[in-house]
Amino acid sequence: MPDIFALQIQGTVLTPSSGEEYKKALRRYSDLAILKASYIVLPSAFSDIPTVLSFATSQTPPIEIAVKGGGNHCSPWASSEGGLIIDLTRLNYVVVSDDKRSVRVQGGALWGDVYEECQKFEVDVVGCPFWFIGVGGYILGGGYGRFGGDHGLGLDNVLAATVILADGRIVRTSPTEESDLFWAIRGGGNQFGIVVEFVLKAFPAAQTVTLGSLTYPETDIGNVLSVVQEWKKVHTTKERVVLAFGNAARAAKVLHPFRDTLKPIVDRSVSVPNMLAASHVADGNFETTPSRMLLQGVIVSDIWTDMVLEVWDRWCEFTQKDDCKQTLVTWEIGRPEKIAEVGRADTAFYARDPHCVVVVHGGNRLPASDESTRAFGSSITDYMRKYNIQKTGKDIGVLLNYARGDEAPEDVFGTNLPRLRKLKAKYDPKGVWSKGFVIEPDFG
Ligand SMILES: Cc1cc2nc3c(=O)[nH]c(=O)nc-3n(C[C@H](O)[C@H](O)[C@H](O)COP(=O)(O)OP(=O)(O)OC[C@H]3O[C@@H](n4cnc5c(N)ncnc54)[C@H](O)[C@@H]3O)c2cc1C
Repeated sequence: MPDIFALQIQGTVLTPSSGEEYKKALRRYSDLAILKASYIVLPSAFSDIPTVLSFATSQTPPIEIAVKGGGNHCSPWASSEGGLIIDLTRLNYVVVSDDKRSVRVQGGALWGDVYEECQKFEVDVVGCPFWFIGVGGYILGGGYGRFGGDHGLGLDNVLAATVILADGRIVRTSPTEESDLFWAIRGGGNQFGIVVEFVLKAFPAAQTVTLGSLTYPETDIGNVLSVVQEWKKVHTTKERVVLAFGNAARAAKVLHPFRDTLKPIVDRSVSVPNMLAASHVADGNFETTPSRMLLQGVIVSDIWTDMVLEVWDRWCEFTQKDDCKQTLVTWEIGRPEKIAEVGRADTAFYARDPHCVVVVHGGNRLPASDESTRAFGSSITDYMRKYNIQKTGKDIGVLLNYARGDEAPEDVFGTNLPRLRKLKAKYDPKGVWSKGFVIEPDFG
């Protein structure tokens, strides 16, 4: 066994013989994403990462490398069976600039770390509604959040980044520095290097965030959809169903038809002062999340009532099974103009047609139900994709952050794939980044 302990690095190296600490470091949001690595390295300084890369790539055969940010992707992209995990957990500093227009965030930070610092300076950034999601995975694959209506995707709000390339070089990238790389990391996922620092655009903080959930009896599905369809005609860029409803004064008005016409049986909507608090609001729900969670997403051009009702029927039938009762389907409806404003070829993120994101959160506890949960998620997402094509004549793509991993690369990257393949050959010719949604290099 090669001696990783001989490396002079700041940080911790864990192996299966490290006991509880090793087991803890293997944990992921979903048990389905856990694989037993031979080594887990937790660097305390990013300058040590090239040494670790060189160790892994110089072995015969080279050791597989996986990079872990927040550990939330439900595919085992941040894990490795028998390989080496570079776990970015300790690289989590966050610094708000003096002029409060940008925030420097290390690649292993969670959104909670970011909000903690942002609220002190009364600024916001486009980030995930949940504190435990990693900044790295979220941004590199897209990034839908509460401020998307006004500011677009997380990746549209990156001003610059520092990346460690497969050959160990540490490069800064921005619209004017190594601009090909800057283009590729915004939508190309983990395929071009380890981002050890992002510089994110900041803006003055919203004074209040109102969010939460209202629960209706199942007999109200038709009425709920009618209200949603009416709300869609008038909603502003600051509102998203189900989670984000803008400022408190407007929120009361927005929530009125949902509360007073429909009469929810549970009303858990609240107004909180900042994104840090907002990112903790759903904590109670996550405590009971099934351990073998599988998220599969699809994007659709609209929320057509008959499509929703078909999914509803299938969901009702599927969740009859005891171990699958906690399976959810969420529909995120926000104003899509800002995302669609950016050209398809301006970043590697392809899905620029106006869309809503639908996510099947397949939830079971027993391994015996894995297959049926996966099949349910796939059947729903396939159905909606086909429905969208029928209705609009367009296939608007697949999102990397909710991908299953078996999709065609053309579906995820669309017309950006040829350029991504060329850049893969330039930045990772030996395929060091072999985990995740792998892009084949084009050496032509
Ligand atoms: C409960 C839940 C809620 C979610 N809600 C949202 C949401 O509201 N909006 C949204 O857009 N997405 C959402 N997601 C999807 C989420 O953005 C993706 O799963 C994302 O990939 C998670 O990133 P991570 O760093 O936490 O995960 P990881 O599993 O650690 O990483 C995911 C991928 O990114 C790579 N990666 C991570 N950090 C880096 C880095 N610094 N440099 C290079 N590669 C890196 C990893 O190698 C891996 O391939 C949600 C997911 C879950 C589980």
